[in-house]
Amino acid sequence: MPRKQRRLNLVVSLILVVGFLATSLTSFFVARASLRTQISQSDLPLTSDNIYSEIQRDLLRPIFISSLMATDTFVRDWVIQGELDESRMVRYLKAIQSQYGAFTAFFVSEKTRLYYHSEGILKRVSEAEPRDVWYFRVQTLREPYEINVDPDMANRDAMTIFINYRVFDYDGNYIGATGVGLTVQAVKSIIENYQSRYSRRIYFVDKQGVIRLHGREFPEGVANISQIEGLAPLARETLAQPAGYHTYDSDGKSIHLNTRYISEFGWHLFVEQAEDAKLREIWNTLFLNLAICAGVTLVVLVLTNVTVSAYQDTIERLAITDKLTGIYNRRAFDLLCRESLLDAARNGSNLSVILLDIDGFKGINDRFGHAAGDRVLVAVVRALQAGVRVSDILCRWGGEEFIILLKNCPLEQAAHTAEKLRTAIETMTTLVEQREIRITISLGVAQYRPGDTEESLLKRADAALYRAKEGGRNRTERG
Ligand code: GH3
Ligand code: MG
Ligand code: MG
Repeated sequence: MPRKQRRLNLVVSLILVVGFLATSLTSFFVARASLRTQISQSDLPLTSDNIYSEIQRDLLRPIFISSLMATDTFVRDWVIQGELDESRMVRYLKAIQSQYGAFTAFFVSEKTRLYYHSEGILKRVSEAEPRDVWYFRVQTLREPYEINVDPDMANRDAMTIFINYRVFDYDGNYIGATGVGLTVQAVKSIIENYQSRYSRRIYFVDKQGVIRLHGREFPEGVANISQIEGLAPLARETLAQPAGYHTYDSDGKSIHLNTRYISEFGWHLFVEQAEDAKLREIWNTLFLNLAICAGVTLVVLVLTNVTVSAYQDTIERLAITDKLTGIYNRRAFDLLCRESLLDAARNGSNLSVILLDIDGFKGINDRFGHAAGDRVLVAVVRALQAGVRVSDILCRWGGEEFIILLKNCPLEQAAHTAEKLRTAIETMTTLVEQREIRITISLGVAQYRPGDTEESLLKRADAALYRAKEGGRNRTERG
């Protein structure tokens, strides 16, 4: 492939590839940016709002019930009156539990330290007992209540979320703690329900970053958000904000995170969405685009090359052919003659040339017109072609002069061919507008001699032709 064509290929490929890449990549980045905007500004906040309002419905109800219990006049009166008849309290707790569908309902008296629940008195809480630590924490709590996740002794140690509400008498003196409990399982299934409905990951984190509640499919052994790859560096920031939006990379995926602090729990709600599913579609579109671009580039390159090659062939052919007769021109002759001379010099083969000129052609033009002259020229060429071997090279030397290069042909044989051509032309008639034109040619023949150049060889042929003209035309002379 010529250098210019290679350069053309390179330029065409570059233009197409750069153009295609620019458009494909731009649309990819635009699509990705709009996906991110959609997730961060619409999808995630909406989900978070929905979940928050559902949480309020599902989880704030126990807080509300506990608050009712803490201010219930029955509870307060019963304690103030000396906790007489425990069955009344037990009945009360049982009623609360069944009416509100709680897992447990309890009251712990500050005075007697007795733990009442819906089945009776469970025990007496003691500061020495590690499982009762919660009560002594609530005792000195600043807030009106706390949420605590602990095993429930009254229910075969099922993990339970307790709402521990502080109870006061009418003078504001602390008289105990009351509240209800939900099983963690119940809460987990609420979370899982949200997760499957919104296809997001949802979990609760306390102020220290401890993961307090999560659904299934949460990585094993991760107890704190500082253990989550990618999220660890953001841990402090997320926990300091009442609400926020973050992105982080985990496992090669971009995770979008929306957080909000739920003051009633003292926990942060984390809602996460991985970008992968939708992003994969955008990546696939990019790959498809690039594949199409590669295909189009290839097709354009093939078409360009086919066109350029055809065009180049035409130009090359035009450069070495005579327009009127379609045979080689002088430029082609120079090239072919040089090659043949080298070949003859190297192999000692015989090489001859015949130089021929139409006799009195000027007169033909004058009598019949230039167009008729052209037709005669074409007719002469056809006759010459018919009279030479396939290996002989026929060229238009200029005007009405022709030259024939005969390879592996000694002088005598060339002279014989020349004579054959002369008689062929002599007997030929060209019919132009019902007028018969007859012409003759004169020929000069020369054979290659060692040391000959193109010039010296042609000079001998030309001298012979001159002698043929001088000698009366329509004849062959040897040089
Ligand atoms: P002679 O060779 O026998 O001495 O006489 P001549 O008349 O052939 O001599 P000359 O070489 O002077 O004339 C050649 C003429 O050929 C002159 C020119 O106008 C004509 N000629 C050259 N090329 C073409 C061509 O392509 N078409 C036509 N019709 N005429 C051409
Ligand atoms: Mg001439
Ligand atoms: Mg002539």
